[in-house]
Amino acid sequence: MRPSTTPPTIRLSDYQQPEFWIETVDLHFKLHPTQTRVRSRIAFKGNTDRTDGPHDLRLHGQDLKLISASINSTALKADEILIDAEGLSIPADLVPQDGFLWECEVETNPQANTSLNGLYMSNGMYCTQCEAEGFRKITYYLDRPDVMAVFTVEIEGDVPVLLSNGNNLGDGKWHDPWPKPAYLFALVAGDLVSYDDHFTTMNGREVELQIYVRPGDESKCAYAMDSLKRSMRWDETEYGREYDLNLFMIVAVDDFNMGAMENKGLNIFNSKYVLASPKTATDRDYELIEGIIAHEYFHNWTGNRITCRDWFQLCLKEGLTVYRDQQFSGDARSHAVNRIENVLQLRARQFREDAGPLAHPVRPEEYIEINNFYTATVYEKGAEVIGMLHSLVGADNYRKALDLYFERHDGQACTIEDWIKVFEDACNTDLSQFALWYSQAGTPRITVTEDFSGDTLTLTFTQTNPDTPGQTGKKPQVVPIRTGFLSPDGSEAAPEQLLVLDAGLKSFEINGLVDKPTLSLLRGFSAPVVLERQITNAERAFLLTHDSDPFNQWEAGRDYALSLLQGMILNDADVDPAFPKAMRAVAVNEALDPAFRALVLSLPSEDALAQAIFEQGTSPDPDAIYAARQTLAKAVATELSGDLQGLYSDLATPGPYTPDAEAAGKRSLRGAVLALISHVEADCATAKAQFAAADNMTEQLSALSTLIRHDQGDAEVQAFYDQWQADRLVIDKWFTVQVASAPADKAVDVARALTQHKDFDWKNPNRYRSLIAGFAMMNLAGFHRKDGAGYEFFADWLIKLDPVNPQTTARMCGGFETWRRYDASREQLMQAQLQRIADLPDLSKDTAEIVGKILN
Ligand code: ZN
Repeated sequence: MRPSTTPPTIRLSDYQQPEFWIETVDLHFKLHPTQTRVRSRIAFKGNTDRTDGPHDLRLHGQDLKLISASINSTALKADEILIDAEGLSIPADLVPQDGFLWECEVETNPQANTSLNGLYMSNGMYCTQCEAEGFRKITYYLDRPDVMAVFTVEIEGDVPVLLSNGNNLGDGKWHDPWPKPAYLFALVAGDLVSYDDHFTTMNGREVELQIYVRPGDESKCAYAMDSLKRSMRWDETEYGREYDLNLFMIVAVDDFNMGAMENKGLNIFNSKYVLASPKTATDRDYELIEGIIAHEYFHNWTGNRITCRDWFQLCLKEGLTVYRDQQFSGDARSHAVNRIENVLQLRARQFREDAGPLAHPVRPEEYIEINNFYTATVYEKGAEVIGMLHSLVGADNYRKALDLYFERHDGQACTIEDWIKVFEDACNTDLSQFALWYSQAGTPRITVTEDFSGDTLTLTFTQTNPDTPGQTGKKPQVVPIRTGFLSPDGSEAAPEQLLVLDAGLKSFEINGLVDKPTLSLLRGFSAPVVLERQITNAERAFLLTHDSDPFNQWEAGRDYALSLLQGMILNDADVDPAFPKAMRAVAVNEALDPAFRALVLSLPSEDALAQAIFEQGTSPDPDAIYAARQTLAKAVATELSGDLQGLYSDLATPGPYTPDAEAAGKRSLRGAVLALISHVEADCATAKAQFAAADNMTEQLSALSTLIRHDQGDAEVQAFYDQWQADRLVIDKWFTVQVASAPADKAVDVARALTQHKDFDWKNPNRYRSLIAGFAMMNLAGFHRKDGAGYEFFADWLIKLDPVNPQTTARMCGGFETWRRYDASREQLMQAQLQRIADLPDLSKDTAEIVGKILN
């Protein structure tokens, strides 16, 4: 039955402090797969700021069986406790208003918990996930991030390893001296082994480091451990942050909705972001492991020591922590290559979100289900906002502001206003206009005109701030535009400038120029905006060759490809012969980093093209997009045909596999070269040979994907399965590569057949995503098959997963967020599937919120 009341909308403007605070919590767990008992002793005290009392005691609780409860040792009778679906209430007259001891026992069923929130079981092991609101599935509590308490935990269970936050007191007992909100609580118990190391902090304290995995996986922890130690050092040298416990633990679990979780002293990770060996993990996997280990570790200060007052402030910890992990990865690898990869992601996920029905501000103002707001906007755009702040105030001021942030707010639950104030105070500046980045959704669109006379260039920028759901009539934001001025010989005609556009229309004059320079605008992608400029292909080719800013060098090639592909798709234009020549020049230029060359050679994605065409006011045709990319790739391959085999053999990395950026860069260029070779080679012989000879997953998988794309991979698909059937993470890749690389007309059938495979364990989020999201998000033309079969297949599986795991279902609905881009027939077919989902009688509030917004 549909719940009789629609779930409430939670609003930032309704925030109130809690009626009570919590000082200490003692938890006792008696673990059992179906009947776990949890006893809690919680010391409450009154909140003197809440003078509107007396207050009932209202505690959050979900799916709990209450066994007993007492206040100051007096048992509460059944009729004194009001229980509903969201928690319980005790009337004010039974609640000493200035403080009391609450004791309570509940029973939960971890085995039946398929939502993977709260306490659940994954492959026989107990584990928890409490962010955002999972702790209330463990016991009755004030489950909100501004309530911070000191936790002591005791775990009893029939398993060898019993873990929780803080310091290990032995015998399953743990004490965490740092007050924390309940969302950072964690418990793990099971048959686990640890991979150990240690770290000496900047002040000479010894920290024990442990990575817990399933027996047999110990050999796959070295890279994660190395990444952890480098992250710890980096946070000391770059932010002055020292680790604050004597023990830091990471646990790898197979069933996890997200990437990883920063629980205090006990990070829990999706096993795909911990486990790696050369034979089973790709270069991309290594890069993600390094980045996510760093991200979770950095949360210890930006998230845990300073946390969020309420969930509207999520970007306070996430935007900043993403920004920090991006800085770290840039330092560890190549800044240019990292920046390009991050911007590709930003455009593919965040710009797409900001342009559609799910657009919301970096700090949202309302939600129904907070789990739906762990989005590209909060994370990635949140990080971009900090990057802009960094460039506006400069590196020294940035560091000053961060020092002040840690000094002023350590131990507190904070807001974006606190964050902004720290910058205003430390840098003596007014950021009220800048703060619009947090409250206005949508990607600003910038245009520029150039006027050269005498020795002066006048640049005039305009800014428009598009309407988004629920937001119209926006104000101009502060857009920092790093700009270079290139002479005809490629040198800098004038020093680079940071032009700060803080109005709807603004001009800047650059004096003392001899010739009209070629502009290099928005260097390093200095703001998350769409820039529209009049530019010729000759200028693009010039920038691709000469720009000293590698991001803009890449951007020039990207922009060139986008405009050509649009012309081919919309106007039947022929391939401009200058483009393959420009690509060739980059491909064979040994002065350029191979990883960078690979990025230049990769054409804009099908989805990026669909978005670009839609923005020109036309419905994109997925088959035409696919065909145009093929044609252009073939033209590049033909231009390069004399070079390809030489490049391919020169780029081989001799000796044993190493995951470092340099070797990975060569492999990525070699993979791009292989894809080109396969366009001009009839039988895919090179890919077949690479598949057979590969000693690492990067090369094995790139060969397999190339073969499947050319419909030549049947034997290799089988061989890959036979080789890897015992390795879950590799079999995830096996599912993905088949649906993502399948030719468009076959993709739905391939996906459908794979759902029948005995290894399609759909309740495991990694496996589900590998097939269902792999199909809907990575095979544009396959998903958008004209007859709607792809939409129906996708919706069937969303419907199937929703009652089991609402959080992952709701996230996946994003596959439909672009439905209004397409032609009337496809639009109707998608709308019908969305409506079918929306009409389900028992739809979760997670999915209902997302589908409702997509349809509106
Ligand atoms: Zn995070």
